[in-house]
Amino acid sequence: MDGVLNVIGGREVPARSGATLPNWEPATGDPLGTLPDSEAADVAEAVEAARRAFPAWSATPAPVRSRLLRKVADGLRQALPELARAESVDSGKPLSVATEVDIPRAILNFEFFADAATQVSSECHPMEGHALNYTLRHPLGVVGTISPWNLPLYLLTWKVAPALAVGNTVVAKPSEVTPVTAHWLGRIALEAGLPPGVLNIVQGLGPKVGDAMSRHPEVKAISFTGSTRTGAEIARTAGPLFKKLSLEMGGKNPVVIFADADLDAAVATTVRSSFANQGQICLCGPRIFVERSVYPRVRDALVERTRALKLGDPLLPETEQGALVSRAHLDKVLSYLALAREEGGRFLTGGRQVRPSGRCEGGWFVEPTLVEGLGPECRTNQEEIFGPVATLIPFDSEEEVRRAANGVRYGLAASVWTRDLVRAHRFSAATVSMVKRVWKRLSRSVTMMRLSRAIRRARFMRTASGAGSCFKGLPGDTSHQT
Ligand code: NAD
Repeated sequence: MDGVLNVIGGREVPARSGATLPNWEPATGDPLGTLPDSEAADVAEAVEAARRAFPAWSATPAPVRSRLLRKVADGLRQALPELARAESVDSGKPLSVATEVDIPRAILNFEFFADAATQVSSECHPMEGHALNYTLRHPLGVVGTISPWNLPLYLLTWKVAPALAVGNTVVAKPSEVTPVTAHWLGRIALEAGLPPGVLNIVQGLGPKVGDAMSRHPEVKAISFTGSTRTGAEIARTAGPLFKKLSLEMGGKNPVVIFADADLDAAVATTVRSSFANQGQICLCGPRIFVERSVYPRVRDALVERTRALKLGDPLLPETEQGALVSRAHLDKVLSYLALAREEGGRFLTGGRQVRPSGRCEGGWFVEPTLVEGLGPECRTNQEEIFGPVATLIPFDSEEEVRRAANGVRYGLAASVWTRDLVRAHRFSAATVSMVKRVWKRLSRSVTMMRLSRAIRRARFMRTASGAGSCFKGLPGDTSHQT
């Protein structure tokens, strides 16, 4: 694809001012192109296009909306190899991850919500022979989505598809760090037959574009995924305007390995859950708690597997660790490595920037890093690093590890490894009040269990507020009329 543009009212356009921002290839550190440096005027134009498109789109029969969303999914599938390559080049993630995870899941998002569009239900509460109280669900109008760089197309579509499915029109703001596949989506949606103005993409900086969306009176809801700092900023702006808000924010997830677990399975999965996408996934497990009796064995196995991870050019098929997404993020991760050293951490693997030879010599790579010797309360174990850095912490009792696992201001996800079913449920029940998802790993045959109860109970400040992208949540939400 040529240069990245906005998609507003069915047209691919630069920022009205003509200003652009540079975009970079993380694996080489070289310029990759530019994106529009949009401003409030571009947002206003996109909101107006979405507002004009809303009456017809919201009145379009659900089966027709569903068919159009399916066509978008088909368009994404046809372009899968090119989209995966573009995502890898733009973000530094291994091509294999973009090919097997990011783009297929973006397609699934459109397919899932294409089906869901035809399944909207309402509620009725009869009043014992006197009256029927019923709830009708209406689309809200123009919905704003603001998404991060770590899973660029995947998280963007996770917001956009449900919003469109229920008849909202959308102004989407992708991360300025990874703008490319969002432009593709805008083009593919138009080619699929989505009417002009139904999906608008406005590229640019958060404090300009995202802030203008949060303030715009016609934007009825904001669905945001990103850092806790930005989420708080959006809440400060949009809260007093009584917009519907969904804020999905940071995490510092615990992985808890009890001595009775299938340790081989625990080690293999924990290496992936700590370092997938260079640790830049909100569900990654950067704090690994291991029961003391098996600590040396688990530590040595984790070290061996982590050392074996292949770091290098993200476009090579054998690469397992790619580049960090930006120069600024590289500097942030390196500063946390320095902090871990200052706090007395012992580096078991990694701990430094690396420069692969050849094409990627100037890229932003950090070796996957395991650190031990740090207590749960130090800053390294309290603050979100969002990079390829995990700490190992031994524990002696279930009560001790429960307190330590819960002892952060974030909550998002947790993994518990044990063969003891009673303990798995007891532990997760004690942990779900703090975290949003708990995976209980009981054995090879029972590997993953999501607790919807946990999702309901995770409405707390530093990680989540609102209802994420559930169909009945934002931005798939609707207004209620009873
Ligand atoms: P970020 O907060 O810097 O940016 C996210 C988005 O917000 C970007 O599009 C950005 O341009 C925009 N933005 C920035 N300032 C803004 C403002 N003042 N007003 C409106 N919008 C603004 O986050 P990031 O660095 O792109 O992403 C990494 C973060 O995302 C991590 O903290 C990670 O945990 C989090 N994350 C959370 C989840 C989840 O489901 N909870 C999923 C993925 C990532």
